[in-house]
Amino acid sequence: MEAEKNARPKGRIRIGIKWKMFMILFAFVSVFVFAIWLFQIQMLHYFYQTAKFNELDKVAKEISLALGDDNKVITVAETSADEFSNDVWVYRIEDGRLNENNKLVHSDGTREEIGYFLEPNFEDLYERALANKNKYVAIVPMRNFKGSYYEFKIIADNANDAGSYPYISGNVRTLNVIHVNVMEHKGESYVLFQRASISPLVTMISMLENQVMFTGVLLVIFVLIMAAIMAKLITKPIEQINRSAKSLALGKYDTEFEGRGYREIDELSDTLNFAAHELSKNDRLQKDLISNVSHDLRTPLTMIKGYSEVMRDIPDENTPENVQVIIDETTRLTDLVNDMLDLSKLQAGSRAPDMREFCLSEMLRSTMYRYEKLTMQDGYTIELSIDKNAYVIADSTMILQVIYNLINNAINYSGDDKHVSVVQKLSGDTVIVSITDTGEGIAEENIPLIWDRYYKVDKVHRRATVGTGLGLSIVKEILELHNATYGVTSTLGKGSTFWFELKTSDSSEYDVELVDF
Ligand code: ADP
Repeated sequence: MEAEKNARPKGRIRIGIKWKMFMILFAFVSVFVFAIWLFQIQMLHYFYQTAKFNELDKVAKEISLALGDDNKVITVAETSADEFSNDVWVYRIEDGRLNENNKLVHSDGTREEIGYFLEPNFEDLYERALANKNKYVAIVPMRNFKGSYYEFKIIADNANDAGSYPYISGNVRTLNVIHVNVMEHKGESYVLFQRASISPLVTMISMLENQVMFTGVLLVIFVLIMAAIMAKLITKPIEQINRSAKSLALGKYDTEFEGRGYREIDELSDTLNFAAHELSKNDRLQKDLISNVSHDLRTPLTMIKGYSEVMRDIPDENTPENVQVIIDETTRLTDLVNDMLDLSKLQAGSRAPDMREFCLSEMLRSTMYRYEKLTMQDGYTIELSIDKNAYVIADSTMILQVIYNLINNAINYSGDDKHVSVVQKLSGDTVIVSITDTGEGIAEENIPLIWDRYYKVDKVHRRATVGTGLGLSIVKEILELHNATYGVTSTLGKGSTFWFELKTSDSSEYDVELVDF
C-alpha cells in the first residue's frame, strides 16, 4: 500500500472517470444551451424583424411588377393586406407632389384609424424616401407612453444608413414599421407605403429564457446520471481486471482476467491473460532451472565427497583411478559453473562481442589440432573439409566457443563409428560451417527445444555423456548476437548436422584448398 502511494505522481489531482465524464458532458451541454440561448433568445428580435422586413420587401417587389395596370396593383395590395395584416397605400405622383386624389389604393389589413394617424405624415415620409435613395424604413410606436393613440414619432430609421434595417430590441409595446418605396414605371412615379406591426417579444423571450433554464437544469441532472451509468459500465470491468492483477502480483499465476464488456477491455484481458500465462511459464522454467542446477551441482559434489571420504577412511582406496574420478568431477563442476556464468553474461548483455577480422578457416584447423589427442586416445575420427579460406568479422573467442560446443556435442552424441565431420563452405558473401555426426539423431518435436537452457532430450542422467545442458543455449545466444543464421537437420537413428552461417569479410580468399585431418 505504501509503495502504491509513493508511486503516484505528486501534485497531480486524480479525478475518477465519473467526474471526468461529467465534466466532458457538462461542457457539451453548456455549449449546446449557450447556442440555444444565443440564437433562440438573444437573436430572436433580429430573426423576427428580418422576417417582417422580408415580407414588406416581397410585397414591394410584387407591386413594382404590377405597376401600369392599376387593377393589378389594387389586387396585389389587397392580397398582401389580407395575408400579412399590413396596410398598403399606393400613390401616383403628380408634379412631384403627393396628392390625395392620386391615391391608387389603400388596403387596410388592420384598423381604419391607423390611416388617419399615418397619412398626414406621408408627405414627409415621401421626402425622406427621395432623400434616401427611394427607400425609407422607420419604426414608430403605436401609442405613446401616456397611452394616447397615434402620436407620430420616429424612434428608429435607416435614413443615415441607407439599405440596412433599423432593428429594435427589447421593445415593450407594439411598434409600427413604416416601409416607403418610390418607384418609376414608364416615366410615371409612384410611391408605396406599407405599415406592419412588430409585436413586443419581451414576454416571449422571458418565457423562452425560463424554458432554456429549465431544460439546462434538466440536462445537467441527466448528464450527471449518464456520467454515473457510463462510468459504472466502463469502470466495472477495469475494477475486475485490477482485482485479478493484484492477485497476479501476489504470485497467483493461474489468475484469469475476466473483464469483458467492450472491445478494448476484451483485448486488455486477452493481453493480460497471455502475460499471466507467460509469467507462469517463466515461473515454471525458473523452478525447473533451480532444480536442474542444484541437481547438476550436487551430483559431482556428492561424488567428490564420497570418493574423498573413502580415500580418507580406507588407505587401500587411495588409488590413481579414484583421484581421477575426483579430478573429472571437479572439471565437470568447473565446466558447469563456467557455462552458467557465460550464459548469464550473454543473456544479461554484459558480454559485448569484440568484433575483429580473423580467419575462420585457420581457427577450424587449429581447433582440429587440439582435438588430435582425444581422437588418438578414444578412437574418434574428425574430418575437416575447407573449400576456401574464409575471413569473418566476429568475436573470435565467442565463435571458438560455438565451434567447441558443437563439436563436443557431435562427439558426445556420435554413433558407434565415432565419426564426426566438419565442413566449411563459402557461398556468395557468406560462409557456412556444418558439423555432422552419425549418432542417434534428434526427434523432430525436440528440435525446437534443444536450444533452451538445461534442455536434455535424454532426461535420464547419463554419466557417459557429460554435458551441462547449456551448450546449445550458449551457441544460440552467441550466434544471435552476431546476427548469424543457424540450425540443425537431424534424422533419428542416422545423425545430426548442426550448422551456422556468418558473413565473410572482403579478405576471404578464393583459392581452393582442401585440408583433411
Ligand atoms: P548438453 O550439455 O546436454 O549436450 P546442449 O545444450 O549442448 O546440452 O544440448 C542440449 C540437448 O540437445 C542435449 O542434451 C541432447 O539431447 C541434444 N543434442 C545436442 N547435440 C546433439 C547431437 N549432435 N546429436 C543428438 N542430440 C544432440
